[in-house]
Amino acid sequence: MAQLSDDCFAQEGRLMRVAEARALLEEVVSQVSEAEPLALHLALGRILLEDVVARIDVPPHDNSAVDGYAVFFDDLDPKAETLLPVSARIAAGHPLDRPARRGEAARIFTGAPMPEGPDTVMMQEDCRLEGERVVIAPGIQKGANRRARGEDFAAGDIVLRRGIRLRPQDLGQAAATGRREVLVAKPLRAALFSTGDELCEPGEELGPGKIYDSNRTAIHALLTGLGCAVSDLGILADEPDSLRAALAGAARGHDLIVTSGGVSVGDEDHVKQAVEALGKLHLWRLAIKPGRPLALGQIGAVPFVGLPGNPVAVMVTFLTLVRPMILRLMGAEAPEPRRFQVRADFTHKKKKDRREWLRVRLTGSGTGDLRAVKFPRQGAGILSSLVETDGLVELPEDLTRLEPGTMVDFLPFSEVCP
Ligand code: AMP
Ligand code: MG
Repeated sequence: MAQLSDDCFAQEGRLMRVAEARALLEEVVSQVSEAEPLALHLALGRILLEDVVARIDVPPHDNSAVDGYAVFFDDLDPKAETLLPVSARIAAGHPLDRPARRGEAARIFTGAPMPEGPDTVMMQEDCRLEGERVVIAPGIQKGANRRARGEDFAAGDIVLRRGIRLRPQDLGQAAATGRREVLVAKPLRAALFSTGDELCEPGEELGPGKIYDSNRTAIHALLTGLGCAVSDLGILADEPDSLRAALAGAARGHDLIVTSGGVSVGDEDHVKQAVEALGKLHLWRLAIKPGRPLALGQIGAVPFVGLPGNPVAVMVTFLTLVRPMILRLMGAEAPEPRRFQVRADFTHKKKKDRREWLRVRLTGSGTGDLRAVKFPRQGAGILSSLVETDGLVELPEDLTRLEPGTMVDFLPFSEVCP
C-alpha cells in the first residue's frame, strides 16, 4: 500500500512516544482521496484540493462604507460648515452614469459605487439637510468612509490554500471571487466495526455479562464529522475466522477500515492476527495514558486503524492521532488541532516518560483567566468523563507533578469534534 510503508511501525517492545508516532504518520500517510468539483453550499468541512485564485479585485469598485454624502474633500471648508447642493443619488448596484461635479454632493448608500471624482464620504449622522442642500461639519479626513477597490484581495491573489478544511467563511470567500464550485476531496469510504463478545446493540435487551456497544456510535459520529461516508458493519465476535472474513469483505469498496477493541495482547484479542493474515499490522504500544495500544496497518491496500476498546482511550487516540491521519488521507495540509494555554486548577501526579490526557472542565471564562478543573474520575472506561467536560489537558512526558496555577495545553472538544 502507498500510505503505510513496510517497516516504519516496527518497534521492539518499547513504548513509542507521541511525537515519534506523529512524525511517522506525517511521513508515511499521504492523500488517497480523489478530487471532485463541488458546489460551495455542499463543500463545508471538505478538504480543499486546489488553490483558489481570485479572478477579480474584491471589492470590484471603490464604494461607500456608510450611508451619507460623497464629496470632493477639496470642496470642504476645513474650519467651518460647508453647504453643498445634493444633485445626485447613488444606491448599491446603481453606479452614477456621469462623473460627479466639483461643488456638488451625491447622496450615497452603503456599498454603492463611488462616483468618478469624489474621494470622501460624510456619514449621514454627521450631516444636516437644509432643503436641497447638505450642511457638512468641519473635521473630516480626506478619503474617510471610502472602501477601495481590491482592498480585501486583488485579482491573482491566492485567497484559499490547497489543503485547508473549508469553513463557512472560506466558502464565502470563494463565492466573493465569483466561484460556484471548488475542487474538494471525495468523502473517504470508511468501514466501521466493533469487536467483542460482550457487546450488545443499544435498544436490545442486555444479556448477562454484556455491555452496550458505545464506541461504534461515538466513532461513527467522529468519522461522519470528518466528512467520511461511513458503512456501519456492526459487532464482530472475538472469533478469528469470522473476524478475518469480515475484515477481508470490508476491504472491498472502502478506503479505510476502523475497528475498536481486540488490539491488546489478551487471548481474546484477535484483531492483530486477522489483520496480519490479510495484510500488515503494526501494533503501536504508545507511551500514553489512556489508550496504550493502537493498531495501524493495511488490509490488502486499504488502511486499517484498530482503536483500543476502552471508550476514553478510543476518543483520546482518535482525536490526537487518528483524526490527523484521516485528514491527511483526504489531503489536508495541517491536520493537527490547535491547543490553547489555560491554567490548571488542580494537583496531579503522573508517571514520567508518557504523555497523559486529562478530561477537564473550564471555569472562569469571561474573567480572562481560564482555569481547567480535572474531572474526578479519570479511568479509561469512564465515558462520563468525556461528557461532563470541555476538553483534554495534555501533559508532556517529562512532567511528574503538576501544581495548581501551572499553564497547560488544552485541546477543546469544540476544536476537534463536529
Ligand atoms: P479490549 O481492548 O477489547 O480488551 O477492550 C477493552 C475494554 O473496552 C473492555 O472493558 C471492553 O469491554 C471495552 N469495550 C470494547 N469495545 C467496546 C465498545 N464497542 N463499547 C464500549 N466498550 C467497549
Ligand atoms: Mg475485546
